[in-house]
Amino acid sequence: MRVAYVGVVISVLCGLGATTLVHAAPDRAAAMPARARPLVVIDPGHGGSNPGATGSVPGVVEKRVTLAVARRVRDWLSAKHIDVVLTRDDDRTLTLRQRAARADAAGADLFVSLHANASPTRSQRGYETYVLTASGLDVDARALRPDLGTPRTGVDATTAAVLDDVERGAAQWDAADIAVAIQDALRDTRGDDGDRGVRQDAQHVLLGATMPAVLVEIGFIDHPIEGKELVDPAVQDAIARAIAGAIADSM
Ligand SMILES: [Zn+2]
Repeated sequence: MRVAYVGVVISVLCGLGATTLVHAAPDRAAAMPARARPLVVIDPGHGGSNPGATGSVPGVVEKRVTLAVARRVRDWLSAKHIDVVLTRDDDRTLTLRQRAARADAAGADLFVSLHANASPTRSQRGYETYVLTASGLDVDARALRPDLGTPRTGVDATTAAVLDDVERGAAQWDAADIAVAIQDALRDTRGDDGDRGVRQDAQHVLLGATMPAVLVEIGFIDHPIEGKELVDPAVQDAIARAIAGAIADSM
């Protein structure tokens, strides 16, 4: 559920800034260590003391569903010769900053956060994909927290800050393409009537990371029918396969 992200919003980014910066984007590959295979970080939402949404099936909480699906996404991506790092592979508490730091430390090409939704009336269903906001574009936020930037050797602080912004701006365009591909794949698997679309809003941030980043709400675990489906291993596997296929086709 999206509520978990509210607490880390510093301020709303300027989307226009991202648009104008993209034309000056450097070759991201040149800044990354040479790697034969793409690396994707899969982030199972919540965990540990943060269970996330409560499911309609007794005892089921979001953190368990996201981890189960994340492991299956990892298996499908590995079969497609794409390396995967999970931000957590057990039931532990992680902050958003820790999740982003893992992706940066791994030198990931893509960050995909998995969540399951809930609604006040327990009546909504369907899946949606978010382009994660590059909050590092917020100059005020960076001035308050200079550690937000990517470490760069031999580059002065001002230039490094500009490079960070350029990378985040370019990454958002890539993220939008991947988000559309994931949403299309989920529509093929889960059906048209659950399609809630690709979205972007300022509550979806990933502080510190510079690679393309998306968040998938795979369905509503508190819906009486969809909640049961989302704990079905066959459904979890179909969702994971769809997400992995979209990622593989985009890389
Ligand atoms: Zn969530």
